[in-house]
Amino acid sequence: MNIVENLNKITKNMAGYPARLIAVTKTHPVEVLQETYDAGCKTFGENKVQDMVAKWEVLPKDIEWHMIGHLQTNKVKPIAPFVSLIHSVDSFKLLLEINKQAAKAKRVIDCLLQIHIAQEETKFGFSQQEAEAALHSEALAGLKNIRIVGLMGMASNTDDLIQVRLEFRGLKQFFERMKATVPVSERCELKELSMGMSSDYETALQEGSTLVRVGSAIFGAREYA
Ligand SMILES: *Cc1c(COP(=O)(O)O)cnc(C)c1O
Repeated sequence: MNIVENLNKITKNMAGYPARLIAVTKTHPVEVLQETYDAGCKTFGENKVQDMVAKWEVLPKDIEWHMIGHLQTNKVKPIAPFVSLIHSVDSFKLLLEINKQAAKAKRVIDCLLQIHIAQEETKFGFSQQEAEAALHSEALAGLKNIRIVGLMGMASNTDDLIQVRLEFRGLKQFFERMKATVPVSERCELKELSMGMSSDYETALQEGSTLVRVGSAIFGAREYA
């Protein structure tokens, strides 16, 4: 696996789309992240708090760290001082905790609401109805240390790219509807739509993604300990 070649290929495929690449570095050692950084990619996605903190401590400080995995409320504190964007906000309770820890860290933390779009039962996320209620809730105005900047979704784990495309399209339609109906405020401005991984990022770009989260197409298959 040649990281630089892979990055070049993906960057080429992204040309013309208004989207950014999140290099999903989970399970990979800091040497691999440093190589990616040296190649010019400085936005990393991790799914475990402990790993993200350990890597943040030793790597250059101009890296943007994105939390992309399910986040338990009791694990927010260690990442609150530095995380750039939390893609995986899947409950109002978690939003409250992020607000609390962001206040302690004297920051405003950008968040995406994760929307359940896959057919599998197991994926986390708000239903569209729940997300709509959260975006319109009066309680949001009081959360001075978070900002909801968009939505995130993970398509079904299937080779059927037509199915995947329809799931992305449905999320994009919901995103546009929320953009049109939720008033822009300091707490909420919907700009980002995080969708697409190694197997489906090109489909996601065609369907309006602004943030693609790509791991194995850059780093090869992951080995889990
Ligand atoms: C692991 C992961 C990715 C990247 O997956 P690849 O198939 O390796 O590109 C993207 N998004 C989330 C939420 C992940 O957990």
